[in-house]
Amino acid sequence: MTNKIFSFIFRLFSVVLFIGCSSTYHPVTPAVLGKISSSNEMEQLMDQPGPVLLNTIDGASLSTSLAGLVNLNSEAAQKAGLKNREEPIQIYIHVLQHPQHGTFLVDTGISQKMLSEPKKIGLSWNVRKLSPLKNIKIQKTTAEVLRDINSPLAGVFFTHLHIDHLAGMPDIPNNIALYIGPSESSKKRIINLFSYTSIDALLQGKGPLLEWTFKADPQNKFVGIIDIFSDGSVFAISVPGHTTGSVAYLVRTPKGPVLLTGDTSHTRWGWEHTVEPGHFTHDHSANLASLQQLKALAKRHPYLEVRFGHQR
Ligand SMILES: [Zn+2]
Repeated sequence: MTNKIFSFIFRLFSVVLFIGCSSTYHPVTPAVLGKISSSNEMEQLMDQPGPVLLNTIDGASLSTSLAGLVNLNSEAAQKAGLKNREEPIQIYIHVLQHPQHGTFLVDTGISQKMLSEPKKIGLSWNVRKLSPLKNIKIQKTTAEVLRDINSPLAGVFFTHLHIDHLAGMPDIPNNIALYIGPSESSKKRIINLFSYTSIDALLQGKGPLLEWTFKADPQNKFVGIIDIFSDGSVFAISVPGHTTGSVAYLVRTPKGPVLLTGDTSHTRWGWEHTVEPGHFTHDHSANLASLQQLKALAKRHPYLEVRFGHQR
């Protein structure tokens, strides 16, 4: 406990010195998986049926403020007369099964331990008391999802490192590879002071975070694209804005391509009206630019199925 207090005081000091703290102080190292790709390469392939089975499972339902999920000051929200209210949302866990490379998750769903023993797993007071996690109804825990898969888990691809996307970590074995976007863990922000100890705790005992290294898309349609298995089956798309290192994933399934937007769009309304999230988002203009890029992709590929961060 003394260590925790000392660490907190140290970080508080670092806030004064460096303006903010990282989202986590968990070790991070460059990912070796994946090769640099381009929008041309991805878009030439994506409408052909692919080999990856993708199952999006409702981990939990809860409600939270619409003002966090949608920018209510945007012209479209004002025009629609949207007012702040409690909005129902879901926490998802996406299960990807690749015929050669095995089973991966995109984000982590939710562990029962987040509700039954939040203090024991290291969630800080403010996360326990103030976050919308307190009104959660679990539908299927991550442990139950992993039990049903019946094959070993090879890795987790994070869309970003907010707590609602790490909520399944207590059920994820320690030796699983964890992939994140560029500077996602290291970017210093004041708001991180309220969440970094909880995120550190959720990652405790796990291996280093493996950071995607994007290069500029030659066609300039996206910030960058990585072909994760070097076979054109799953692509990581850099979509900074909601967080510094936000990543969307495009999965080629036997039924066609599916885009997992992460929280570049939390809601269906935000997607349909091209309005970025509200106060849950870090950089509104960058988030909007990334959302516009994903929407343009969907327009060029009408058979693309789009799955949003927190709504069907
Ligand atoms: Zn989220």
